[in-house]
Amino acid sequence: MNTTTRAGALAGRFEATFGAAPDGLWAAPGRVNLIGEHTDYNEGFVLPFAIDKRATTAVRLRNDSTIRLLSTVGDRGLVEADAAALTPGTVTGWAKYPLGVVWALRQSGIEVPGFELLLDSDVPLGAGLSSSHAIECAVVTALNELTGAGLSAEDMVTLTRHAENAFVGAPTGIMDQSASLRGASGHAVFLDCRDQSAELVPFPAQEAGLVLLVIDTKVAHSHADGGYASRRASCELGAGILGVTALRDVAVAGLEEASGLLDPVTFRRVRHIVTENDRVLQTVATLRSQGPARIGGLLDASHASMRDDFEISCPELDLAVDTARSHGAIGARMTGGGFGGSAIALTPVQDERQVRAAVVRAFAEAGFTAPDIFTVTPAAGAERLS
Ligand code: ADP
Ligand code: MG
Repeated sequence: MNTTTRAGALAGRFEATFGAAPDGLWAAPGRVNLIGEHTDYNEGFVLPFAIDKRATTAVRLRNDSTIRLLSTVGDRGLVEADAAALTPGTVTGWAKYPLGVVWALRQSGIEVPGFELLLDSDVPLGAGLSSSHAIECAVVTALNELTGAGLSAEDMVTLTRHAENAFVGAPTGIMDQSASLRGASGHAVFLDCRDQSAELVPFPAQEAGLVLLVIDTKVAHSHADGGYASRRASCELGAGILGVTALRDVAVAGLEEASGLLDPVTFRRVRHIVTENDRVLQTVATLRSQGPARIGGLLDASHASMRDDFEISCPELDLAVDTARSHGAIGARMTGGGFGGSAIALTPVQDERQVRAAVVRAFAEAGFTAPDIFTVTPAAGAERLS
């Protein structure tokens, strides 16, 4: 189904469910991080892009404070809540994402009334493509407009971060919502996580004869198992010993001195962050001067650093990356927080079929769950559809 048909079907289903047409439809995309992993909370650089898979919400404001939420995905049933009585930490299930946004808006003094909302999303859940932020960004974009709050994209980034951290309870940064809210077709979003400034960088993969394959390993990634928290702790420890505010302030040239001051594990964690920040800057410079066909080596180096220094890869991700590379991809890396989720492989169009087939075969031979493989293109950020 194309976007227009899908939007029309959603409006129809909204009316059939809630008895009146929606006030409008708003969409926000998931994201893929091209490069810059775990650099966000070290006040460093990331380079995500909005993808052509997104969450669409049909919304209609009510005259009371009742919120009614329904998703087309799965058999989740209707959720009801009171906009005026939301408490952090009390909501379970997917409703915590839209309700977190309502709570954060109200916290910042914006009167959000009740509303009806129907969600439709083709961002795969839990694959590291930020299906949860796609929901939050679609909801905040809709409510910003419907309430006349007049928030800028940057305001909405801050607000959804607050919703995630304080209401949902996930210790996430600003990358996902920045890509979703500030992305643009054919571009990646070069984001400085220290001052939140963002610049669009051309990423014309298609024009360069390349496709970006996402290989979803189906290995569940979870922030709850301690891996993420322990990496954050190592980074804080390293920054403390080196006497800097954040690892962003350590240059590649400073690594030799750092090696004498840090224990071997902390040093490797620090080296990943420092070199990864540098790779993001190099990727941005390369995209601007030479284009996407020349960034393969940086993607490969990023993966090696996450596998060996930061130790957040897993056998499925390594197999996806290695197989894609040996069958034609010009660069590949795991993307997202690690311990599962997806890998990306920048691949010449003519090698796409061969890479796909080789990865499927390699997973079967290793006895792994069959991966899901699809292409993404750098697409528009959050917007009103109708
Ligand atoms: P990711 O954001 O990487 O996809 P998360 O675990 O952060 O993974 O978010 C996935 C959660 O988002 C799901 O468990 C579900 O609660 C919610 N979600 C995402 N898409 C939908 C959808 N279409 N309908 C209902 N809930 C969804
Ligand atoms: Mg998420």
